[in-house]
Amino acid sequence: MTVLYNRVALIGLGLIASSMAHAMRWKGLAGEIVGTARSPETRAVAQELGLCDRVCATAAEAVAGADLVVLCVPVGAMATIAAEIAPHLAQGATLTDVGSVKQAVIEAVAPHVPDGVHFVPGHPLAGTEHSGPRSGFATLFVNRWWLLTPLPGADPAVTQRLRGLLEGMGAHVDEMEPAHHDLVLAVTSHTPHLIAYTMVGVADHLRRVTKSEIIKYSAAGFRDFTRIAASDPTMWRDVFLTNREATLDILGRFTEELFVLQRAIRMGDGAQLFEYFTRTRAIRRGIIEAGQDTAAADFGRGAPAPEAGE
Ligand code: NAP
Repeated sequence: MTVLYNRVALIGLGLIASSMAHAMRWKGLAGEIVGTARSPETRAVAQELGLCDRVCATAAEAVAGADLVVLCVPVGAMATIAAEIAPHLAQGATLTDVGSVKQAVIEAVAPHVPDGVHFVPGHPLAGTEHSGPRSGFATLFVNRWWLLTPLPGADPAVTQRLRGLLEGMGAHVDEMEPAHHDLVLAVTSHTPHLIAYTMVGVADHLRRVTKSEIIKYSAAGFRDFTRIAASDPTMWRDVFLTNREATLDILGRFTEELFVLQRAIRMGDGAQLFEYFTRTRAIRRGIIEAGQDTAAADFGRGAPAPEAGE
């Protein structure tokens, strides 16, 4: 494939950045990949794995001369990083991010972006419950959506070039208003994660359900909850702090539905339960038919990790 950017700087070297590094190498999309992370430990692992051509000690150093800069840190860290790199960004460079919330990231980053630098916010709808530089794999984005939320007046040629890179890594790209993105993701990702965290918390609080029983007798439903609830605490704390309104809106609706089902159970209303579960089953089938998941019991998230540079 063609090199789309001469130098890509990855700021933060966790799951998403390391997957991008593997995918860009795999498809030959970047001339040079430069990376940095906050801790010396993560930088050392990145060096050991050969994730980047160069690992820099600071974000300022990493972005110098890059024609694409990707912010791959938790949403709550975006403002500080943006302020740090702003004076070092190259004229004409594209700046993007992979944050799970878009309005808050735009508010945090946009004020720091210098004239002549193009900021195109983005979010890959791909991930696993693992984090850190060892967790990435080249196929993470294959057949997954990558949403871009370009700002008013964005240069279409800049967005188009970025789109080429994302599609080169196997993603399907769509554009969306930031507020709409945050609402959609509150329904499809953020609230489900909160529910999973809550359900695992409930089990943990039940004194008669000991830890060993939770592990020994965990049925598929609970196991899926525990997998989701194992997701990175920093990332998810930041998601709920920054997508507060949309998440609270969806949680309110969720609570109302829960009361409807609770009442149906109390009243022994089997017909209502059956009708409800039939509707939800159709949604699951629709997701599989759309190629966004497999019918495999692991929810299709256990794709094998190709070697770096494959
Ligand atoms: P991750 O594996 O936990 O890696 C996060 C990286 O950010 C690490 O390199 C970490 O550095 C660095 N970092 C953390 N806090 C920082 C701070 N305060 N200042 C500077 N650097 C900091 O995270 P990830 O899963 O790749 O997520 C990165 C971004 O992608 C987040 O914004 C998240 O919302 C978004 N996202 C995640 C997923 C997912 O499923 N995981 C999916 C889509 C989008 P150290 O290693 O040195 O601590």
